[in-house]
Amino acid sequence: MMKVSKFISELIPYVAGKPIEETKRQYQIDQVHKLASNENPLGPSPKALEAARAELSSLNLYPDAGVFNLKKKFSTFLGVGEDQLAFGNGSDELVDILVRIYCEAGDKILTSELAFDTYRLSAQTARCTTDRVPVTPDYRFDLKAMASALTPQHKIVFLTNPNNPTGTYFSAEEFDNFLKALPLKDGPLLVVDEAYFEFARAADYPNTLPLISKYPQLVVLRTMSKIYGLAGLRLGYMVACAETAGFVNKVRKPFNVNSVVQAAACAALEDLDFVNKTRQLTWQGLDYFYKQLEAMGFEFLKSQGNFVLVDMGQKAAPIFETLLTEGLIVRPVANYGLPYHLRISVGTMEQNEKVMKALAQISRRGAV
Ligand SMILES: *Cc1c(COP(=O)(O)O)cnc(C)c1O
Repeated sequence: MMKVSKFISELIPYVAGKPIEETKRQYQIDQVHKLASNENPLGPSPKALEAARAELSSLNLYPDAGVFNLKKKFSTFLGVGEDQLAFGNGSDELVDILVRIYCEAGDKILTSELAFDTYRLSAQTARCTTDRVPVTPDYRFDLKAMASALTPQHKIVFLTNPNNPTGTYFSAEEFDNFLKALPLKDGPLLVVDEAYFEFARAADYPNTLPLISKYPQLVVLRTMSKIYGLAGLRLGYMVACAETAGFVNKVRKPFNVNSVVQAAACAALEDLDFVNKTRQLTWQGLDYFYKQLEAMGFEFLKSQGNFVLVDMGQKAAPIFETLLTEGLIVRPVANYGLPYHLRISVGTMEQNEKVMKALAQISRRGAV
């Protein structure tokens, strides 16, 4: 056999949510609700769907490599220069590209113990290691400790705000202090993954985009996968200084963003009704979850995302299995070192009620 780098042979792949079709086959049930991947329970934006359909007749043509319409629409919408933007096949592709640009083999990245797993995977594939700083006792990123842990070996710092799988966030003030603690010269690239920023309702949640002009090392990642309901089509975007965006646009494959999503995303961005409806449904669902979980006596973390992390008070794997037999897919998070927790995405109110009823039964029965 060909010899392969230890970074590859020892790679533990990303654990995705269990697919609906697989669950139907495995448990022989027709109705399965997936509350496992923080997807939009309302489906895609109807405007995006219409634009995607119209684009299908041109599937014989290559996509626009220069992403002309996307750049124009997003630059206006976000109030940033077109030269500050880059698009990826999901924001996970942008993470991969940034690591390839800013890290050499043997370099390190710095993130939190409970950060989204994608950063570690991209780093390891690029023969880099990940240092992870413990969270605070209330499961928040410890930005002070992260600033202290930073060394010249760290080429990228990855922050997730709000974070997945915890739903916790850091405030504008905490972020400001972190920025000020960074080295003035030759410091790391600072990537803030804001996949859930549209859901955040804390008054002190930071507004990062205006900070890029002052801190050129700052990169903000966002996605069309969550509130815009386009996870299956794959589109992530990045806002950065023109230099960093330029490097990403040089390194990315010319056709990394397919023609259907180019059309769909432009339409989705303008579908404010759909975004507002999703946000309202999410907040209503979270409030409902909190009330039910409190009544059942489960501990959980208040979330700024579209999901909630619940402490089951016992090993969560058997509860996950029991829920599957009832056609409910939630997300075990043992791979994050949280074997007692489950992450539950907000669904439609009907789905939310189903999952809370199932948990109530489990809690009445005691340990499963
Ligand atoms: C869902 C999610 C994303 C989105 O990833 P895509 O590749 O754009 O679908 C990014 N970051 C975090 C933390 C997420 O939970």
